[in-house]
Amino acid sequence: MATLTDAQQRDVQYQLHPYTNAVKHQSIGPRIIERGEGIYVYDDQGNKYLEAMAGLWSVAVGFGEPRLVEAATRQMQKLPYYHTFTHKSHGPSIALAEKLIGYTQGRMASAFFTNSGSEANDTVIKMVWYYNNALDRPEKKKIIAREKGYHGVTVASGSMTGLPANHRDFDLPLPRIKHTSCPHYYHGARPGESEEAFATRMAEDLEALILKEGPETVAAFIGEPVMGAGGVIVPPRTYWDKIQAVCRKYDMLVIADEVITGFGRLGTLFGSERFNIEPDIMVLSKQISSSYQPLAAVLINDKVASVVSSHSGKLGTFGHGYTASGHPVATAVGLENLNIIEERGLVQNAAESGEVLQQALRDMAGHPLVGEVRGVGLIAAVEMVADKESHRPFEPVGTIGAPLYERAHEHGLIVRAIGDTIAFCPPLIITREEVHDMVGRFARALDDVYKQRK
Ligand code: PLP
Repeated sequence: MATLTDAQQRDVQYQLHPYTNAVKHQSIGPRIIERGEGIYVYDDQGNKYLEAMAGLWSVAVGFGEPRLVEAATRQMQKLPYYHTFTHKSHGPSIALAEKLIGYTQGRMASAFFTNSGSEANDTVIKMVWYYNNALDRPEKKKIIAREKGYHGVTVASGSMTGLPANHRDFDLPLPRIKHTSCPHYYHGARPGESEEAFATRMAEDLEALILKEGPETVAAFIGEPVMGAGGVIVPPRTYWDKIQAVCRKYDMLVIADEVITGFGRLGTLFGSERFNIEPDIMVLSKQISSSYQPLAAVLINDKVASVVSSHSGKLGTFGHGYTASGHPVATAVGLENLNIIEERGLVQNAAESGEVLQQALRDMAGHPLVGEVRGVGLIAAVEMVADKESHRPFEPVGTIGAPLYERAHEHGLIVRAIGDTIAFCPPLIITREEVHDMVGRFARALDDVYKQRK
């Protein structure tokens, strides 16, 4: 058992960590990250890591960006806090709402701010229910999400998440939340089935679920344009067209959870652009502020906004909101962060560096452990399988992913292991040379694990 440093011991004693095996944590302790600069972070032992996950899919402009520090400081000095309840507002929240709606070129009408993606998705669920009550459709309340989708961890958003660890022994999901098939062609396709036919079948699965539940009870469909935490799953090309056609047929709202895909990740400003999604509701977070401040936004189109606002008039209030909704420091930082993304052409850089990333990883497809390489723009994944021919996964799950995740640190690389899939989602500032460096480090870690198994 490793000897823990004083800081590690105090961490183990006093802190319960998210997404961590608390028993194992007692013996291995945390890696303590002390500072960051550009695409790198440094731990308290002086080790430097290329942060291939941008933290949690989020630090678009890189670590240690002085303009964001200055924006926060300026706002702290002027007005460190004020709320947006009961007809109050402030400059930063107004400016950010205007900018976000402007980005959608009129497709969205109004922005509602929260602190996290989970709260944003909770807000979405409440808005969908409120909307249908306003329309006098009290039965139309079910929301369909997808297996392996990720929408957060609160009671309601965690219900929409389609991952077993988020439900098991938490008594989730809530009864009004249903899940349809995950559009992962590599694992889900039947022998001989084309991508096109697979996409059609995914839409048929959705329709079958709607019919089983009763279309008059189904209110909305939510999906990430590209699934992130579920394993970076890129749907087949025609998937979203077919899914949206089913939603329109049954008068359901389409919700695009762009918490990861928003602000350039796929090489387009939004993932919806890339996949021709026409959402009624969009959920944004993470790269909205590069996570320098907790911030998320729900954008609603005119169809939803007009009903929600007039219903609030009827009831006397829209009875929902967080103390920090539109927090002035968070929205000031978000605004400056989006200015940087624009000025430095980071969406374009994501497209260009993204192409290099996709190619460099696809060049590894011949490796004996590599099953599938997938991704778009600056988000990608490499899945290791036990049998390349049949795509059979490793048993137990994590046989390769867990040691590979650890080994990567020795090569100065932080990645994310999702079972036996390794995810990449680097800061949008990454250069082509740095992409090659990142993939090289990963390849060396993979070879280490491979040699150890032989
Ligand atoms: N939606 C998506 C697509 C996400 O990836 C995440 C977080 O990773 C969330 C929602 C939840 O956001 P948060 O962790 O800020 O609550």
